[in-house]
Amino acid sequence: MTKKERYQFIIQWFCENMPEAETELNYKSPFELLVAVILSAQCTDKRVNIVTPSLFKKYPTAVALSQANVEELTEIIKSISFANNKAKHLLGMAKMLVEKFNENVPDNVEALEQLPGVGRKTANVITSVIFNQPNMAVDTHVFRVAARIGLTTNAKNPLQTEQQLVKEIPKELIHKAHHWLILHGRYICMARRPKCEVCGIRNACKYFQQKGKFMQEEMQTPINPLEAKKEAGRTT
Ligand code: SF4
Repeated sequence: MTKKERYQFIIQWFCENMPEAETELNYKSPFELLVAVILSAQCTDKRVNIVTPSLFKKYPTAVALSQANVEELTEIIKSISFANNKAKHLLGMAKMLVEKFNENVPDNVEALEQLPGVGRKTANVITSVIFNQPNMAVDTHVFRVAARIGLTTNAKNPLQTEQQLVKEIPKELIHKAHHWLILHGRYICMARRPKCEVCGIRNACKYFQQKGKFMQEEMQTPINPLEAKKEAGRTT
């Protein structure tokens, strides 16, 4: 199978089996999503969703957050990894939104990257989810899964992964493909033990072509990542 055929197979499978894919972070405004994505670095979306309701209640806008006290902020988000640093980033980000961006979340990667706590990945998430731009955010799941499946070749860092993916995925599907790959990495193609036996894209997967022949007797009906999430919820 060529790389082009691999992309075609995988895109078609996800289009048919998981046409709707979106972020698992809860938010009601661009500002809330920006806060949630900053908090989600090296932390689970589930944990972030537990913390954000009380955070957004106390600081519903960039102005309110810009006037927060960093100790109080740290206390509210203390169950999140790197709480102290993230509290400082949130405060700095809110101040800059107020002082430089008229309280609005910027709609382009370059401006977003100026905000404390916002790197390329976060900027790509915001421009893709909020502003529907064809930007691919590469987190640890996207990086691993893309390489394992064979969508990328010798990508040394997230930027190289991003560049290879956006070159091959049709523009109008890039924002969806980001969620497909993240959810696939979270619930099916996990780092330590990928669930190849229920994976719908195994016939196009490079890893499976190399290792899967040893697993033929374990194969089951394929499920999509959201079904796998439900299954996992049932057993844990
Ligand atoms: S076949 Fe296995 S390694 Fe390949 S994408 Fe599916 S779960 Fe991941």
